[in-house]
Amino acid sequence: MAGIYIHIPFCRKRCHYCDFFKSTDLSQKARLLDGLKKELQSRAPELASEEINTIYFGGGTPSVLLIDELKDLLNTISEHYRLAENTEITLEANPDDLTQAILSALKQIGFNRLSMGVQSFSESDLKLMNRRHGVMQAIQSVKWAKRAGFSNISIDLIYGLPNQTIDEWERNVRIAVELDVQHISAYNLTYHEGTVFYEQLKKGILKELPDELSVQQFEMLIKILKEAGFEHYEISNFSKPGLYSQHNSSYWKSKKYLGIGPSAHSYDLASRRWNVSSIAKYLDGLENNLAYSETENLTEQDRYNDFIITGLRTMWGISMDDIQTGFSPEYFSHFQKLEAKYAHSGHIINTSGTVRLSPEGLFISDKIMADFMVVESC
Ligand code: SF4
Repeated sequence: MAGIYIHIPFCRKRCHYCDFFKSTDLSQKARLLDGLKKELQSRAPELASEEINTIYFGGGTPSVLLIDELKDLLNTISEHYRLAENTEITLEANPDDLTQAILSALKQIGFNRLSMGVQSFSESDLKLMNRRHGVMQAIQSVKWAKRAGFSNISIDLIYGLPNQTIDEWERNVRIAVELDVQHISAYNLTYHEGTVFYEQLKKGILKELPDELSVQQFEMLIKILKEAGFEHYEISNFSKPGLYSQHNSSYWKSKKYLGIGPSAHSYDLASRRWNVSSIAKYLDGLENNLAYSETENLTEQDRYNDFIITGLRTMWGISMDDIQTGFSPEYFSHFQKLEAKYAHSGHIINTSGTVRLSPEGLFISDKIMADFMVVESC
């Protein structure tokens, strides 16, 4: 099983918190679509022996593409790759790009999952973040999506926003629950260098929410979603039973994936590859048979660290047997030492040799993962 990720690097407007690779200049859209198709065709041999169980259009904003453009890309994939019977096909979409007719057409051409960039159900938060849509548009687009036949809808939310109170956050989460979606991803706001929020923070225009308030919001999120029947299957991801994102799970379960498009990353168990983060250089490379990516072969240390970061994030955790059989004894003994330390402090739980973060551990997951990782050769 393997996945395909397609990066659509266009947005109509820049959100103030976002550091993803994107451009608001859509003039190269047609050329880029040709480039994506060319890359899909030329790299098909890399997954020749694999069945594709997830296709994910991310960005940027894939919903800026027209139905025919998306259909063309899907056709290229099905011509050159072997799809599993129930391949999850996800489109990231912004509410302001969606209408009832567009959603019905998306369903009809093969998308069976939507990931909607809602971020907040407060008009003032949306304005602060420089989002294009309004609250009613977000709510309406979820309703339209259901009417169009989508039964696997995810929405993204952001917490830890400047001045966001616990009551405001609770209201957001409760509206998401009332919408009866199958999946919710909720991220704590990060001030990435190069973003408007980062500059505003530096200038004192914005004030970071104190950590203890973000933690309270995270606790509130977990409590409400668990009560509403969601499984907390990864630090930032919650789903109705069994409806985990296949796309994200591929990353966390170390499955092969092919990243298509500028800035997209690929992984084949032995190496990582990343395409250049420039539309011009990407197209130049594809059109003139020049390099447009770099590849790094993974050392044992890289593989071990990836295994830690991806495994500890999820409710499936890490099997100690896998560490013992998959890595040199030094790595296993490093893991054992940390396992004993954090099991003692109550931050991890070891159930029959499977190690997971405890509820307390979730709140300091970054620190725990950093400790488990190896920075110098064992
Ligand atoms: S958050 Fe999404 S829509 Fe906003 S700029 Fe980033 S990629 Fe574009």
